[in-house]
Parts: sequence; structure tokens; C-alpha cells
Amino acid sequence: MKIFNTMSRQKEEFVPMKEGEYRIYVCGPTVYNYIHVGNARPVCVFDTLRRYLEYRGNRVLYVSNITDIDDKIIKKANEEGVSYDVIARRYEEEYFKDCRGLNVKPATVHPRATEHIEEIQSIIKDLIEKGYAYPAGNGDVYFRSRKDAHYGKLSHQPLEDLESGARIAVGEIKEDPLDFAVWKGSKPGEPAWDSPWGPGRPGWHIECSAMARRHLGDTIDLHCGGVDLVFPHHENEIAQSECANGCTFARYWMHNGFLNIDNHKMSKSLNNFFTVRDVAEQVGYEPIRFFLISGHYRTPINYTKEVIESCKASLERLHTCRDNLDFAIANASGSDTALADRADAAQEKFIAAMDDDLNTADAIAAVFELARDINTLSAASSKETLEKAARVFDELTGVLGLLYNRAKDEVPARVQELAEERAEARKAKDWPRADAIRDELASLGYAVEDTPNGPKIIKK
Ligand SMILES: [Zn+2]
Repeated sequence: MKIFNTMSRQKEEFVPMKEGEYRIYVCGPTVYNYIHVGNARPVCVFDTLRRYLEYRGNRVLYVSNITDIDDKIIKKANEEGVSYDVIARRYEEEYFKDCRGLNVKPATVHPRATEHIEEIQSIIKDLIEKGYAYPAGNGDVYFRSRKDAHYGKLSHQPLEDLESGARIAVGEIKEDPLDFAVWKGSKPGEPAWDSPWGPGRPGWHIECSAMARRHLGDTIDLHCGGVDLVFPHHENEIAQSECANGCTFARYWMHNGFLNIDNHKMSKSLNNFFTVRDVAEQVGYEPIRFFLISGHYRTPINYTKEVIESCKASLERLHTCRDNLDFAIANASGSDTALADRADAAQEKFIAAMDDDLNTADAIAAVFELARDINTLSAASSKETLEKAARVFDELTGVLGLLYNRAKDEVPARVQELAEERAEARKAKDWPRADAIRDELASLGYAVEDTPNGPKIIKK
């Protein structure tokens, strides 16, 4: 697979350090509000990358942090007159609710910043020892950007350009405007943790360096996030991690493009600010995921009401096709096998597209081509051919994380009822009754498998 590496600005063969295992870190949300549709883009895009790598037989260690201490969280807590963690836990929960709605797999670890204060302080100590960071005397600790000879390498900006945008805010005591805080001394009434530099809390950038090191090691395979994070966030993560650890931080960098609303940048003042929750209440979650991966991840995408409606309609075509396919399988009487070749061709196209820098747009096109072939060729196809088409169709839509709401109403109520009756009969050791129900289920096309987690209903 090739991916566009922001560091080299080229498409490169994506080869992990350890064959068959990818270590990936994706910057997660600051939990002070519901996430908006722009926030959900990296969440869905990189979940799709992860699913694809797993589909190709790899193991993926996927770490996505929760920033649960930050100025915005403190501000919101003060507005509501509650502790910062009330806000953080509330919106973390809402974030995971949206993730489940969008069919985003839980990360291997979702580390919280406040649960890694020790690791954060340990990396700051390393930096101070090596002369890359300094306590300013007011409780803050800053990173000496200019001391890092490679500072600016990810954003490809010369120091002079970075300098012109740098400033020293009121209350900061920096040696140089380019320096940034790795530890912030607490102001009265703010949440604080003890440290060798006085009570305070971590800077934003340092938490990712510390949590990546803790959960994935000094060097990771891939670091991802939105393009708005390239500078300063990712640039600063690199500076901290490489100066502290003395080795490459991330071997590859992937960044998704912006999301606009009606061709404008999303902003509260333009009144074009949409949360995932708001949109999901109108059209459901699945069209949002479809929309977010429908374009190539590096190109900007434009959200409009029309676009999301058309995504919904496109998805409905896929759902209908898949339902028809089930019907065709149940009633198959043909002998044609052409559809099997079409399924192979679709799979090949899909893989070629995904291997080319995660081209989900072309991959989705391959799925729609297969849907068209299924619609036209089903009636004459053999049962085996139809089953193969269904398997490929499910695999490909599964990699995209789509059509996940199908399974829910697959088992008819009567079948569910019988399975429960059978479980009761078994409990009562009424074997003849249990066997009779098993036969009845079989006549309806279902089998029951007894697993340690209880009976599992399988459609035959
Ligand atoms: Zn980060």
C-alpha cells in the first residue's frame, strides 16, 4: 500500500517496522462539547484505514487520546459551576456515542491526558535535563524550539516564517516567542497537579508525545490527524518526542483535508456549525460516515444539505441491492456464474484503489459497480455464485464501515422467541422439547449454536 507522507510530501510504500503490525496514533478530541462534522472526518477516515489494514491481514495497534484537561474544558466548567472532570467525562461519553453511531471501532487504547500525568512529567524532565526545555520561574515550563535543529520540518516552514506568527501572550515568560508551553502553572481556582515546577497542568502537545511513548513506544509507524494539526500541534509533538527520545517519532504522517459548509469555513459566527448529533438526528449516522469517506481524504470536502441527502439516497441503493441479494439466494434457481467474476473484479478494483493512498472514492465506485452487476445478473445466477457475490459485497462494505445497521432486524421475532424457548427447555433439561424446537428453527432456515455467551442464532 502507498500513502502520501506529509513529512516527505510524496506517496511512499507504507511499510511498518514489524511485518504485519502497524502502530498508529490519531489525535483525539478535546472533550468540552459535542463533536462537529469536521471533527468526525479524521475519526471516520482513519478508522477506514485501520479496517483496511486489518482486512489485509495485519494487526493494528490503534491509539487515540482523549484531551480531558484544557482551557476550553475549564471555561465550560466555570460557566456551569462544576468541576472540569464533570464536563470532560460528559462529553467523552457523548463522543463515544457518536463514534458508535458512525460505526467507528474502539481504539486499542483511548488514553486520557489526566491519567498520564506521571508519563508527561517524565518526558518534561528528560527535556529539561537535555537542555531542550526550561522552567520559567512562574510555574510554566517551555520548550526551546530554536535549539531543535529540525524544528519546522513537518510543516516545511522556515524558522523566519514561524517566527512572524509567534507571540508571547500576557503572563508568559518565554526566552523566545517561538517557544511553547509543555507545562502550565495553575492560576488560582484552576485544576492542578503537583510537579517539580509547582502545581499546574500539561500543555496540549506534550500529552500526545507522552501517551504515544507510553502505549506505542519511542517510534511509531504512523501518526494521523486533520491538516489543521500540522502546525503547531504535530510539529511540536515531533520536537518534544525526538529531542527526548533521540530517535524518529513517527515514520509516516497522514493528514485529512478540511471540511467546509456550503463552501464556507465552518464557524459559529457564520451560523454554519453542525454537530454530528444534529445531523444524525435528521438523516441518521450512516450517511454522515458515507459522506466523510466519499471523497479522497486529502481533498477538502463540502457539506451541504443536498450532499448529505444524496449520500443517504446512495446508501439506500446499496441496502436495497443487498436485501435483494438475500432474496435471490433464498430463491436461486439459475446456473449462471458470470457474477462471480464480476465480484472478483470489484474486489481487485477496490484493493487497487485503497492501496493507492486510501482512495476511498474509487473504492466506493467499485462497490457501486458490483451493486449494478448484482442487480442485473442475480436472476440468472447460481446459488453458489450469489453467495460469493454476497460475501465480497459484505467484505468491501465492511472495510468502509458501511451497511452496519442491516444485521439488527435480520432475525425475525418468531425465531428469536423459539430460540429463547429452546434455551429454557434446555435449562429444564427437557431435551425432547429442545430438540423439537431445534427442528422447527431449522425448518425456518435457522440454526442455534450454544456458545459460552448463550445461544447464537445463525441463518443457514
Ligand atoms: Zn496530538
